[in-house]
Amino acid sequence: MSTATADDTTWGTYDVVVVGLGIMGASALARLSRLGVKALGIEAHGPVHGMGSSHGETRIFRRAYWEGEQYAPLLQRSYDGWAELGEATSDTIALKTGGLFIGSRDSTLVQGSRETAQRCGIEHEFLDAREITDRFPAFRVPEDAVAVHEPDALMLFAERARLGYVTQAVQHGAHLAYGRTVRALHRTSGGSTTVSGDGWQVSCGAVVLTTGGWIDRFLPGETGHLVTPMRIPVYELDVAETDGRAHEPGRFPVFLHEETDGALVYGLPRWRADGGLKLGFHNRQLTPLDVDKARRPPSEAERHELWSAIRGLLPGVRSTGRATSCVYTMSRDESFLIGRSGEREGVVYASACSGHGFKFAPGIGEALAQLALGQPTTVDLSAFAPGRFR
Ligand SMILES: Cc1cc2nc3c(=O)[nH]c(=O)nc-3n(C[C@H](O)[C@H](O)[C@H](O)COP(=O)(O)OP(=O)(O)OC[C@H]3O[C@@H](n4cnc5c(N)ncnc54)[C@H](O)[C@@H]3O)c2cc1C
Repeated sequence: MSTATADDTTWGTYDVVVVGLGIMGASALARLSRLGVKALGIEAHGPVHGMGSSHGETRIFRRAYWEGEQYAPLLQRSYDGWAELGEATSDTIALKTGGLFIGSRDSTLVQGSRETAQRCGIEHEFLDAREITDRFPAFRVPEDAVAVHEPDALMLFAERARLGYVTQAVQHGAHLAYGRTVRALHRTSGGSTTVSGDGWQVSCGAVVLTTGGWIDRFLPGETGHLVTPMRIPVYELDVAETDGRAHEPGRFPVFLHEETDGALVYGLPRWRADGGLKLGFHNRQLTPLDVDKARRPPSEAERHELWSAIRGLLPGVRSTGRATSCVYTMSRDESFLIGRSGEREGVVYASACSGHGFKFAPGIGEALAQLALGQPTTVDLSAFAPGRFR
C-alpha cells in the first residue's frame, strides 16, 4: 500500500482517481485495479467511519424488486459480483437468509415484488398468513396478510464487503489516500484533470466521483436539485430469550413489511449471540441533514414509533437495544444517477442511495470503471441516466 504523506504536495499521475471510498468507490477502485489500471482512491475520513451511508454490519440483497424490473440486469450482475468477492476474499460477504415481503394482497410491496419476480424469472413463492407463521415462527400477521418469499435473498456483511473491495484494490496495485478531502477538480487544457485538496494535488485521465451525500459539492448544476441528504434512524432491538433461535438466519429471513398506511419497515436477522434484530423504517423518520455535522441520535419518540410498528408483527422483539442515525441520499425519483458528467468533462459518477443502493455495488463499480475507461458498459444504464429528469 502506498499512502501519500503530509509533505507530498504533488502525488504524480494516475489513469483514474476515485474520490470517496464508500461501497461504490471501493467497488469501482477494486474493478479498475483488477483491470491493471493505475488508480488512486481518496477518502476524506478513515477506512472505517460513520459519516457516509456504507457503514454498519449488514444490508439486504433481494431481486424480487418491488421498485421495478428496470433494476433486474444490475441486480443479476451484482448477485454474481457478491459471490465473486466472497470467493476472492475467502470471507463470508453474503449469507443466504431468504427474503420475505409482507403486506396486504394489494399492497405496493407485495404486488411489485410478485410482478418483478414473475417477469424476471426470480424464484419465489406466494404465502398466505398461515404459511408465513408456520414457516417463520417469529412473525405474527393478520389473517388477510400475504407475502412473497424469495429463497435466494441475502444478508450482506457491509463493512466486510467494503473493506474486502479496498483490500482487493490494494492487492492489485491501487494506491490509497485516507484522511484527505478533495476540494477541487480542474480540467486542464491538455485534457487531464487535477484533483486537489489542502496542500496537495494529483493529476489523472479520469475521475470517478462517489462522494455519496456530498456529490452536489462537485456537480451542483447537475445533481444539486436532484439529490437531498436525509438523516434516518436505524435500530438494533433486543429479542426475548424465550424465542430461542426464531430470530436467527435459517428461521428468520431478511424482510420488508408494508403497513396499511404505506409505511415500510425492514429487518434483518440476529446473527451474533450478543446482537439484536436490525430494524428501521425505509420511508418514515427521514429529516433533512447537514452532511458535515454529527447526526442527531434517534429520540425516544422515534424509537417508540418504530417499536409500535413492529411489536404486533414480531412479538418477541423488545423495545430496548441500540439506535443510531445514518444518511439516505434521496434522489427525486428514489432511483440512482449513474453516468458521465455533463457539467465536468472527464468525470463519471454514481449517486446510488435513496436507501437501497448497497446491494448494487458490484454492478455499479464495474459500470463506473467501464465509463471511466471510455468503454461500453456491460449493463444498460439508461434507466439511471441523470438526464432523465430533463
Ligand atoms: C440505515 C441504512 C440502511 C440501508 N439499508 C440498505 C439495504 O438493506 N440494502 C441496500 O441495498 N442499501 C441499503 N442502504 C443504502 C446503501 O447503504 C447506500 O446506497 C450506499 O451505502 C451508498 O454508498 P456510497 O458509496 O454511494 O456513499 P457513502 O457510503 O456515503 O460514501 C461516500 C464517501 O465519500 C467520502 N467523501 C465525500 N466527500 C469527499 C471528498 N470531498 N473527498 C474525499 N472523500 C469524500 C465520504 O467520506 C464517504 O466515505 C441503507 C442505507 C442506510 C443509511
